[in-house]
Amino acid sequence: MARSVGRLHVIAGCMSSGKTGELIRLLSRHSVTGDTMVIYKHSVDSRDGCKARSRLGTEMEALVVSSPAEIDGSGCRVVAIEEAQFFGGELAPVVQQLLADGKLVYVTGLNQDFRGEPFGVMPTLMALADELTLLTAICQKCHGVATRTQRVIDGKPAPWSSPLILVGGADYYEARCPDCHEVPGRPGPGGA
Ligand SMILES: [Zn+2]
Repeated sequence: MARSVGRLHVIAGCMSSGKTGELIRLLSRHSVTGDTMVIYKHSVDSRDGCKARSRLGTEMEALVVSSPAEIDGSGCRVVAIEEAQFFGGELAPVVQQLLADGKLVYVTGLNQDFRGEPFGVMPTLMALADELTLLTAICQKCHGVATRTQRVIDGKPAPWSSPLILVGGADYYEARCPDCHEVPGRPGPGGA
């Protein structure tokens, strides 16, 4: 019998684009065939504790981990990784090992950071993907099609110079279209 290589399906998109809902929909298909599965989420994403929870109200159990080294697939055929942008570059070789081991791997994450730049390991994973789903949201300002994630601090657009990942801060995030996405202090072309 031919060696079975895994497959990678990346679900990318901005804030509020329904990535977790889409992940749960895709994973629920595997329950029909009884495939064993595990979902990993990063400890930075402390919302909802040990659950992957969607805006639709669907949820699944998840293992909370703080580094890619803790992602071993746990003997499961299907391995899902939530919010991949938090894991850093070491996630890519871990995913490649899971694929070499024949796993069906699903990854969700923000493809762009709050500045509108490629976010961490996500562009690499998107390039490695066998399947790619790019989701959009609704712009919270103009109700157009949102593809960007707006960071807001103290009610104002966060400046370019604020750190890439803020933990436990007074920041929050909104889905925005490219026209409504604001990054004060952006250097170079398009800067304001
Ligand atoms: Zn807009």
